[in-house]
Amino acid sequence: MSETTALSLEPMVELPGFDALEKVLDELAATASAKEIWAALGQAGLIEQVYRHGSAGGGVIPSRLARVLAAVDERFPVGTTLSTCVQLATVLPILAGDEGLPAQTLRRALSGAATVGLAATDVGSGSDLTALETEVLLGEREIVLNGTKRWITNATTADEFLVLARHRSGRHFTNFTWVLVPAAATGVAVRPAESDLFDGSGVGDVTFEEVRLERSHVVGRPGRGLASFARHIATERLAGALWALALCRRTLEHTLRGLSVRPHQQGTLWDLDSVRQRFATCLVDLRQLDALTRELSDRIASRYDTSAAALLKAAVGSTVDKVLAECAQLQGAEGFTPTGAQRLRAQAAIFGIGGGTTEVVRSTVADDAVVVLAELDPSAWPCTAG
Ligand SMILES: Cc1cc2nc3c(=O)[nH]c(=O)nc-3n(C[C@H](O)[C@H](O)[C@H](O)COP(=O)(O)OP(=O)(O)OC[C@H]3O[C@@H](n4cnc5c(N)ncnc54)[C@H](O)[C@@H]3O)c2cc1C
Repeated sequence: MSETTALSLEPMVELPGFDALEKVLDELAATASAKEIWAALGQAGLIEQVYRHGSAGGGVIPSRLARVLAAVDERFPVGTTLSTCVQLATVLPILAGDEGLPAQTLRRALSGAATVGLAATDVGSGSDLTALETEVLLGEREIVLNGTKRWITNATTADEFLVLARHRSGRHFTNFTWVLVPAAATGVAVRPAESDLFDGSGVGDVTFEEVRLERSHVVGRPGRGLASFARHIATERLAGALWALALCRRTLEHTLRGLSVRPHQQGTLWDLDSVRQRFATCLVDLRQLDALTRELSDRIASRYDTSAAALLKAAVGSTVDKVLAECAQLQGAEGFTPTGAQRLRAQAAIFGIGGGTTEVVRSTVADDAVVVLAELDPSAWPCTAG
């Protein structure tokens, strides 16, 4: 099956060079940092090839995003894939909405020369995005930013931060604006997160204290911040699903190899029917997630369908939990080694937290209950004669 038909996505002319992906990554040391990986991908022209017509504003090509995330996930730690994922899915597409100074940062990011952190989550409000307190005063020539962002991927390594701030008080969705902040600007302070689970991601907290910048650092129109975030977080949720599929698949493969050689009585653990049935349940769960991802990927990538993205993310959180918990148990004590599933299971809990917790996306699914049910009506199926 070709790359395009595999996910039944838009017709696509094969741009030269994308097949170099695995080779480019294989040439890097296993210890390469997320920044080095980003630079290698950018220099090989692979970042821009993830987007339709090579433009981050054109939306992602899901099959290509899937391949990049799977290839990075296979070779590098979870934190490194996280770093790549957030930038590809969310940061670059948001930057693409502006012709001015952000366009320069976008060009540098596409070429791998710059990395950019997405700083949306506030220290106080967390999931409750419209309560965020980070504030930007918009002057005619100068802007002033104050606030603290928590658990920001690439915080300790980014060259710039794309910061979601409020320019007006109140919860209305037009009160928020994106600002592009150089990490080296006076008043920016970064602190690594107190966890080694995401080593390689540069995750940490970022404080902005009286950060003064020229007005050109505003990204897009003031007041469009939350609307553009909602649109592009949809792509991040799709990216999460694509990455989760790759991560669960490789963990199931690893587990199957272990079960197939682990002696038990006259055979191996894989000969035990109860073990095979538990493993099969994981396969069924993963195939269901795969089917849902294929069904919804185009709606999310081309139309930024936030309902579809919430549905998919709600499925990802629970599937990853179930599959990795079963793999970890089936690996026995081996599960606690560095390549075992126990640590991976803790790391992969990020799929139910980052980019919107499972509960938050379930609320969105509930909001769309009538539409979800209508889509399940058999009369909505395409009619094929015979
Ligand atoms: C490794 C990592 C990387 C991250 N990277 C980034 C990044 O790059 N950029 C960025 O902006 N943010 C990032 N985040 C932050 C992430 O988006 C937030 O952690 C997430 O949105 C949840 O917010 P919170 O942690 O404050 O949880 P809280 O809002 O405090 O929620 C805690 C728990 O309360 C429950 N809960 C919360 N709200 C509801 C609700 N409405 N209904 C029912 N239950 C609810 C849920 O069980 C939830 O898990 C990252 C987080 C991690 C762990």
